[in-house]
Amino acid sequence: MNTALALEVPFLDLKAQYRALAPEINRAVADVLESAQFVGGPFVENFEQDFASYIGARYAVGVSSGTSALELALRVSDIGPGDEVLVPANTFFATAEAVSNVGAKPVFTDVDPATFHLEVKSAERMITSRTRAIIPVHLYGRAMDLEQVAELAAAYRLRIIEDAAQAHGSAYNGAKIGASGRLTCFSFYPGKNLGAYGDAGAVTTNDYEEASKLRLLRDHGSPAKYQHSVIGTNARLDSIQAAILSIKLCQLDQWNQLRRKHAALMASALADSPVMPPEVPAGGEHVFHLFVVRTARRNALRNYLRANGIGTGIHYPVPLHLTEAYQQLGYPGKGSLPAAEQLAGEILSLPMYAELTDEQIEHTIDAILNFAG
Ligand SMILES: *Cc1c(COP(=O)(O)O)cnc(C)c1O
Repeated sequence: MNTALALEVPFLDLKAQYRALAPEINRAVADVLESAQFVGGPFVENFEQDFASYIGARYAVGVSSGTSALELALRVSDIGPGDEVLVPANTFFATAEAVSNVGAKPVFTDVDPATFHLEVKSAERMITSRTRAIIPVHLYGRAMDLEQVAELAAAYRLRIIEDAAQAHGSAYNGAKIGASGRLTCFSFYPGKNLGAYGDAGAVTTNDYEEASKLRLLRDHGSPAKYQHSVIGTNARLDSIQAAILSIKLCQLDQWNQLRRKHAALMASALADSPVMPPEVPAGGEHVFHLFVVRTARRNALRNYLRANGIGTGIHYPVPLHLTEAYQQLGYPGKGSLPAAEQLAGEILSLPMYAELTDEQIEHTIDAILNFAG
């Protein structure tokens, strides 16, 4: 074995990112501790303004997670019991869970194998008299072209709520995801492109009424202390996370640029391998939250990479309609959404983050080519 084979490529390396920013982050956390403003206050307001202006949205409302962002966006849209909401079958569980948690029913659509996005024709087939909304997911960091979704939504009078939990800074036709004016939900879970040091999220909108309602709902329906105008919840963004996010936001474009550069390199090196790399769209359409390849020998490749010190993930191994939770609720089983089901057996997420070194990228490419050869 040569030394290159001893190189480790963890699937995610949050320590490397922290090391680069430690003095600034530590100072920001100390500032919050000394201010004793732990919930609400200037740190949260500053981050909300920073994030709204970064995205190009009029308002950003900080919340406690991406899941609560989705739940509150659904509630602001008056989605509840008796309503159906279209959700792609290949996404993180929370997209559907939020729909269930507001009392509505997620209806799963198939996906497009080239972009991994929700497939609009499949969505149209699922529409009933109860369908009220559709949640396109900008999966893996690739901005979805929402033109067809918008046409579908206009024809059937559906609300569009965007799930941008993986797509901070991703743009379509020059406009960042979240700037469309529609309710757009972000997660700042630590592993996301913009990650807090705990749970956090945000909803962006250009509508003053929606932003005000979101602020009410996240804080016990309370416009002022001990006044409660509606039943809300506790889904606030805390100040420590907000202060950390304000610092990291300044690095986001640079991190995304590096992810794109790494992704372009890996995709071209893997173009003629039996592994199918993801498309690398021009411009800022993809921020490569995940770099997902396809191969019929997925599990064997995964084991081989692990033996070579390379971490991988599967996003996601079970399409949502086949998860235990939704099978118990009587959802259609295997065979009902063939593209999503086939992808689930073939996808593999390779290490992808700004801090990847040239050696780590080369090692990953070499290992895949060696496995293939
Ligand atoms: C991470 C994620 C969520 C949920 O966000 P949390 O902050 O973990 O609650 C929702 N949708 C997608 C697509 C995600 O990747």
